[in-house]
Amino acid sequence: MSEMMRSIQQPFKVSYQFPVHFITGAFDRANPLLADIIKHESKDGLRKLLPIIDANVARLHPSLIESIRTYATFHGLEAMLCEPLILPGGEVVKNHPQHLQNAYDAIDRGKVCRHSFILAIGGGALLDLAGYAAATAHRGIRLIRLPTTVLSQNDSGVGVKNSINALGKKNFIGTFAPPTAVINDFGFLATLDDRDWMAGCSEAVKVALIKDAAFFTELQTLAPKLVARDLEAMKRLIHRCAELHMQHIAGGGDPFESGTSRPLDFGHWSAHKLEQLTNFELRHGEAVAIGIALDATYSHLSGWLSEKDWRSVMDVLAALNLPRTHPMLSDPRLLAGLEEFREHLGGRLTLTMLRGIGEGFDVHEVDAERMGWAIKHATKSRHRTT
Ligand code: NAD
Repeated sequence: MSEMMRSIQQPFKVSYQFPVHFITGAFDRANPLLADIIKHESKDGLRKLLPIIDANVARLHPSLIESIRTYATFHGLEAMLCEPLILPGGEVVKNHPQHLQNAYDAIDRGKVCRHSFILAIGGGALLDLAGYAAATAHRGIRLIRLPTTVLSQNDSGVGVKNSINALGKKNFIGTFAPPTAVINDFGFLATLDDRDWMAGCSEAVKVALIKDAAFFTELQTLAPKLVARDLEAMKRLIHRCAELHMQHIAGGGDPFESGTSRPLDFGHWSAHKLEQLTNFELRHGEAVAIGIALDATYSHLSGWLSEKDWRSVMDVLAALNLPRTHPMLSDPRLLAGLEEFREHLGGRLTLTMLRGIGEGFDVHEVDAERMGWAIKHATKSRHRTT
């Protein structure tokens, strides 16, 4: 080796593990789960616990803050507890930087150190923002997520990503940062409106389509119960969907997405663009349902997915009262979403398409004309469209 160039190579590994719990009544005094997580992680001194709460959850669960205080006192954690920070629920919290600033201010005010905890309680948007604040303040504070929507319990809350929107783009700023623990408390789901209750089901359809044909069949059977707001059916959907997501993150070989293949983003290239084009009037889950319909239709028109399987996809979305098309699909800016998606994921354009139920595969090119046909064709199945 020449004197001009010397290198030191020092490989190192970091391993991660976090539990996802499924319960009802996280703040019931008799339920030691949360206290045990905190005590287990805080053996060597004083820590702080800062709740960051979705304003709609705080409004619809008016005794929540008092329950957190009572719970903390009962379990001897009252000295840790900071004044809860309430932030708006929904995409608005990711769109306006002031909310992130408010989170940093609360962390600073509460003297929340790197070994302390942020307890994020809310929908996927609130969790994304709180997770980003937790990952970046002091270079990383421990995060306990308590997701309160179907989508955040079955998908976003059990993952390793967080983000805010910027420059008019979804999730432009964010990090990969696994949480300390996730507590899926089914008790919160009762106050969801029908729209959010159903919207979260699209991520279950997505993961079933790319990974698990048996789960897809189960969703077909569960659909009428889910529409009727049967909680047991929803618990099953959430549990299996979360399990498939976690298996992919832990066992897929690329938890921090440094490669180009991202099967969990099936249907998401158009979904992210549609959310933006509709000024976030569409819920994320609704946009994903439309994205699934579009890419399933494209897969069918490309000869990869049979007519029968394509109809099954469209029918299950319809049976779940999920939209399959939207007027903004015809907006010429939609296809620009492909390049934004590629940039966001990095590397070569890679989209997941279907060659059967439960069988996703990667493609690296999109035929714009055929995608145009898919947009028109996506509406033509037996059930109603929205
Ligand atoms: P959301 O967070 O926008 O919540 C939808 C609405 O429900 C909001 O108005 C919210 O205040 C309200 N809400 C929350 N909990 C409630 C409850 N228990 N009762 C009544 N209302 C309640 O929507 P979402 O579907 O939970 O999450 C979507 C967000 O998640 C998007 O920003 C999306 O980009 C993000 N996401 C992130 C990941 C990830 O890996 N980090 C993955 C998928 C989606």
